[in-house]
Amino acid sequence: MPPLPRIAVGELPIPRQHLYAILMLAGFSMASVTLLPAPGELLSDTPMIVDGDDLTTDVAMANTDTEYLSIPDNELVDSDTVVGAEDADSNAAEDVDPPTMDYVVKADDNLSVIFNTLNLPAKTLQKLLEVDIQNSLIRLKPGQTLSFLIDSKNLVQQLSIPVNATDRVVFNRKGDGYLSRLESNTDGIPQVAMTQPQQQSQASVSDQTSKPKAVTATSRVVKGQIRSAFGTDARLSGLTANQIVQVTRLFQGRIDFRRDLHKGDGFKVLLDKPAAAGAPNRDAKVLAVVFSTKGRDYKAYRHTDGRFYDETASGFSSGTFMRYPIPSLRKVSSRFSPNRRNPVTGIVQPHNGTDFPARVGTPIVATGDGVVVKATSHPAAGRYIIIRHNGKYSTTYMHMSKLLVKAGQKVKQGQKIGLSGNTGRSTGPHLHYEFRINNRPVDPMRVDLPVNSSMGGKERASFLAKVKEYNRLLAS
Ligand SMILES: [Zn+2]
Repeated sequence: MPPLPRIAVGELPIPRQHLYAILMLAGFSMASVTLLPAPGELLSDTPMIVDGDDLTTDVAMANTDTEYLSIPDNELVDSDTVVGAEDADSNAAEDVDPPTMDYVVKADDNLSVIFNTLNLPAKTLQKLLEVDIQNSLIRLKPGQTLSFLIDSKNLVQQLSIPVNATDRVVFNRKGDGYLSRLESNTDGIPQVAMTQPQQQSQASVSDQTSKPKAVTATSRVVKGQIRSAFGTDARLSGLTANQIVQVTRLFQGRIDFRRDLHKGDGFKVLLDKPAAAGAPNRDAKVLAVVFSTKGRDYKAYRHTDGRFYDETASGFSSGTFMRYPIPSLRKVSSRFSPNRRNPVTGIVQPHNGTDFPARVGTPIVATGDGVVVKATSHPAAGRYIIIRHNGKYSTTYMHMSKLLVKAGQKVKQGQKIGLSGNTGRSTGPHLHYEFRINNRPVDPMRVDLPVNSSMGGKERASFLAKVKEYNRLLAS
């Protein structure tokens, strides 16, 4: 696995490996606050950010070219325009559950870094650790997928962690804290197990031997026909608003839901759990989708990595991203931080993006294919651009001196969209770059970027076997 770009590291007087070791220790010491009186000593003279109170703030350097903004989101972003479900129809956007945010644990990860990358408060992590009776959080292993449900107030409503092939630990928000429980998912229907703290602690994530049992097909397949709009018809067929949004986003860029779908076209959705007596199952995951229009089938299948692939096992979402919006400039002047402290005022203000110290006039490129939804000016953000990419992603570029694209325009990855500048409330020439998932800013330098991967060997074979199985279920 290629090393992840980590800024700040280069500025530290300690080698990277040591830094990770310290971060890891900090993660553990936080986890054991109830056992150890003062986990802070170990780290008191390191310049990093992870321990105790330091975890919550991150003081920016006063001489850095950056900006201290708290621009209300609605002044820059129309959340609808950026990642909305407008293609499905307006009905589907009502009372949608918080979207899932998946994070695959990397070899050099630790809990603080993961929560920081995903823009989640350290306090949330502490509350989760308090109820982590399975030790699922402090025993994370590379490759494990954390599935978060994060609401519009940035509260984690649910976190789910698979601990082996059939069981997962689920944390649910309750009041101001969390409850955790172990769920078994042997036959598609979760069974809540009452567990003692040590009962599951030896569970191995590499236990992939037990096969999920086949289930009754019919109740898991939702079938429908287009009569008016996909959103409405899908709802009538028994999909939840959430599932509809997921399907719509998945096919964004392949199917234009307004123009391409016609009366009589059909769709089928395979869920991982049956609907309960006619009512939609809000907890069910979409496993496979088929749209049939004009004699053509569009098919997508979920793989174990949570992403969708087509029947030939190639990546379904076409969107890939470049890590850097100025390809020749990899220096970061101020990094993403949910807890950055303004060195002048002392106030904690999140820094929702990564700053690059670019000279005025440096070309900036679109990091992925997409549509420009904003190309305008704002008193604080200066000249800025927002691009909507396939699915749930958007990128924002601020303080530019010149815009080279217009709202509504389609752009390709690597296309020049403007020149860097010092416009708006900026302390010096730089580019402020944001990467958003479901309209939540996350760390552009660390977050998993979609890659157009296709599988090989064993993985491919097992995926294709699953496709066969899913097709059989969909056809029944
Ligand atoms: Zn910035």
